Amino acid sequence: MRLFTVLAVSLLAFYSMAAEKDRFADVQIQAKPLAGNIYMLTGSGGNMAAVTGPQGVLLVDAQFAELAAKIQTTLQEISANGKIATLVNTHHHADHVSGNKVLGQGVAIIAHQNVYQRLKTDEKFDKKGLPTVLLQQPLALNINNVALELIPMPVSHTDGDLVVWFKEANVLHTGDLMFAGRFPFIDVKSGGSVAGYIENTKQLIAKIDDQTQVIPGHGELTDKAGLRQSLLMMEQTLALVQSYKKAGLSLEQAVAKGLGDKYKSWHWNFITEQRWIETLYQAE
Ligand SMILES: [Zn+2]
Repeated sequence: MRLFTVLAVSLLAFYSMAAEKDRFADVQIQAKPLAGNIYMLTGSGGNMAAVTGPQGVLLVDAQFAELAAKIQTTLQEISANGKIATLVNTHHHADHVSGNKVLGQGVAIIAHQNVYQRLKTDEKFDKKGLPTVLLQQPLALNINNVALELIPMPVSHTDGDLVVWFKEANVLHTGDLMFAGRFPFIDVKSGGSVAGYIENTKQLIAKIDDQTQVIPGHGELTDKAGLRQSLLMMEQTLALVQSYKKAGLSLEQAVAKGLGDKYKSWHWNFITEQRWIETLYQAE
């Protein structure tokens, strides 16, 4: 019996190690055509976008280095040779930039100025993938006959966010300024701000129309109505948590009280209801 228990425990340990190792084994990179030669790419980590054509691929975000080969394969399926010409990073988080060291080799990597500052001092980040073109102002590009604008945003998810606006094609990649149908992650430790996040969401809503296809940083392809829902959820839950604070509730008491059934569907494993309340509670 005892031997059996030891065996079972070590087998369990073995399987959980294997699961850890193969975290990316089952991930598939899917490409969804949105407009002409503009695609939304999903896998594990932040949603990507690609513009294909004879000038090479413009890729928005790079997910994880472990997925780089799969991303390359998908790019080969949707373009002549899959060769990347330009890589854009929407911000500095690992699930958007870890692939830089593979996918960004020998090409321009464009990001908000503050992304460079953060990645340069990040010990876990491979410096081969550091951005090479640093933005403080919007940059207009034209690649493969697609006009796009890279727009650095004021502090919101972090202090180094940018969005990608394909005005003519009417497609917007928000980076992590949008978590479709989920509580958003606002990285206050990296300069993010709840008020800034809400303000930027309003700016994005004002920029687009009802036909705009919105690629969120996380979640399904969405639109203006999706951004509005997200804004409404943030405004309502912020007001609720502020009312708790005003009534003298501690953070623990606010968490215990919760947000009610109305917002249950926005809870997910990374930003749970508790974590969202904690984010809102510390906001000014
Ligand atoms: Zn992020």
